[in-house]
Amino acid sequence: MDDGRAWELDQSDPVAYVREQFHLPQDAIYLDGNSLGLASKTAERVFLEAFDEWKTYAIDGWSHGQRPWLYNAEALGARLAPFVGARPAEVVATGSISVNIHQLLSSFYRPTPARSIILADTLNFPTDLYALQSQLRLHDLDVAGHLLCTASRDGHLIDEDDIIANMSDQVAVLWLPTVLYRSGQLLDVARLTDEAHRRGILVGLDLAHSVGCMPHRLHDWGVDFAVWCNYKYMNGGPGAVGGLFVHEGHFGGMPGLAGWFGSDKGKQFAMDDHLTPAGDAGAYQIGTPHLFSSAPLFGSLEIMEAVGIEQIRAKSLRLTDYLMRQIDLVLAPFDFTVVTPREHHRRGGHVSVQHNDAARIVKAMKVAGIVPDYREPNIIRLAPIALYTSYQDVEDAIQRIRRIMMDRSYDAFENERDIVA
Ligand SMILES: *Cc1c(COP(=O)(O)O)cnc(C)c1O
Repeated sequence: MDDGRAWELDQSDPVAYVREQFHLPQDAIYLDGNSLGLASKTAERVFLEAFDEWKTYAIDGWSHGQRPWLYNAEALGARLAPFVGARPAEVVATGSISVNIHQLLSSFYRPTPARSIILADTLNFPTDLYALQSQLRLHDLDVAGHLLCTASRDGHLIDEDDIIANMSDQVAVLWLPTVLYRSGQLLDVARLTDEAHRRGILVGLDLAHSVGCMPHRLHDWGVDFAVWCNYKYMNGGPGAVGGLFVHEGHFGGMPGLAGWFGSDKGKQFAMDDHLTPAGDAGAYQIGTPHLFSSAPLFGSLEIMEAVGIEQIRAKSLRLTDYLMRQIDLVLAPFDFTVVTPREHHRRGGHVSVQHNDAARIVKAMKVAGIVPDYREPNIIRLAPIALYTSYQDVEDAIQRIRRIMMDRSYDAFENERDIVA
């Protein structure tokens, strides 16, 4: 089945040289970089440097060394800003998606009797929905009446028109993912932000499945606030510190969840009884930065900055085009259906395929040396990553899956549930 194109595509790939900077699994094709990006040599180097600075400087590490700890969150934020299309002061590296949603909703969701609804969608990631629900409860608002979730017509995709139809004048905040984590659909964020703003609705985004895989223009789109994690396409390591964006139009406010690291840097050690918040996104961090959870990200960024996000997106699209074509050619007879939209402007970096036996096929894939990702009840997510997946990897994975289907080797597995995220 190999038509020789994988080899040619790898030969002419301008990004191919980066692969050797990553620690690739020896015995498997890794297609799960959208859940946890791989370790790189630069991430390893900076991680070890950070440990060394602790040994060398002890308490003086707050102000000494290559990356003084006191400014860690802001320095990292400025490096992350170009990846989301923000000004440096609009981004701070802090917290996690779950915590940062709470911080931003605590700060910007100000329900009034006339305007109290949070508009989301039924396919939103569970932690996002849990956070939105608990924010409503903190305001003594009943969840059923105040969290409006736009439904999906087919169980995989959300129609932008349906979201816009739900933008009533009772909606205070619109909360959406850029890329839906199950189907890989990319929403038209610029259009949705524009429509929301015309109705006086604030817009918050979760970039978990788009950051590090495509460019964004958060500032120019006028998005009010956003969150993301850095352990997926950003390759910042397990539990890597997250990202938080606040548009500069909102600078100067008091954070909903205040802590001393949100201080104006000049006043932090005055130990005042009342917070003077930083005049930028830095105000929304809470406590001491998690330095060892941010060090690897500095290293990963060296690679990502050198390649550039435009080039990363271009290769990601070529890889996923190639993957989808191989699925059509080789796997369609085995009842696999691609649920990810085909158009470039409507999808992120992973391809989701549906199969009735998905749980068992995923188990057989792992035995056959493929690391995929399974989502209940019948979705297999495959993510070839621009920085370290080759076209040959995609070709080999498809051939291994074909063999699994020909031999029905997945029959050997119980249809038990995978608990791995
Ligand atoms: C990965 C992911 C999360 C994870 O949230 P954490 O707080 O970092 O654990 C949240 N939302 C979405 C959409 C995700 O894809």
